[in-house]
Amino acid sequence: RIPVICIDGPTASGKGTVAAALARQLGYHFLDSGAIYRVTALAAVRAGLAPDAGNEARIAALAQTLPVRFAGDRVLLGSDDVSQAIRTEEVGVNASRVSAMPAVRAALVALQHGFLRLPGLVADGRDMGTVIFPQAPLKIYLTASAARRAERRHKQLISKGFSASIGDLCAALQARDARDGSRSVAPLTPAQDALVLDNSDLTIDETVARVLAEWQA
Ligand code: C5P
Repeated sequence: RIPVICIDGPTASGKGTVAAALARQLGYHFLDSGAIYRVTALAAVRAGLAPDAGNEARIAALAQTLPVRFAGDRVLLGSDDVSQAIRTEEVGVNASRVSAMPAVRAALVALQHGFLRLPGLVADGRDMGTVIFPQAPLKIYLTASAARRAERRHKQLISKGFSASIGDLCAALQARDARDGSRSVAPLTPAQDALVLDNSDLTIDETVARVLAEWQA
């Protein structure tokens, strides 16, 4: 059986950074499932499909054969490097909309399962432990206060050359949490056997160490 560690949680909880660091330290593969939803949203908009319910079947069809690839830190849509383009707040909001469509989620399952390869996988997302890899031996639900998450997102955006206000970001991420938590399909919630870890007062290194200790226990 191929080992898999699931890191789920709300937006800007630090799970992406923690999951990537874990994958690096363990020499495992890494699945950034949020990036897959972001690429789906970007591809839909580029194809002239607004992320509205009326376009669900068409967006799902597009997702079914989505030519997304990860090359190191880069995310490719076909031969187009979309690493930067998928990180805007607008694409995040559109990703949240397409990810609420059951047909789109179903269309992306096989693609996500394809990341499970030896020697192992760290999977980062919202439903890694509940839907995609329910058999995973370690599931972490990583969370932090909204204020702390807004600060972190702010820092991240600034470092990438985007500008934003912390207050706006806090409101936006609370709205996104509400949408992700209340949707009918795969709502954001910890798996029954997940370890809930609030890292509001932990550094990334402390959080990674905590998860590694669980994995090696
Ligand atoms: O994590 P990230 O902000 O990149 O995810 C973008 C959006 O994709 C989230 O707001 C969420 O709605 C959706 N998503 C999801 N299931 C996942 C990963 C992301 O619904 N496994």
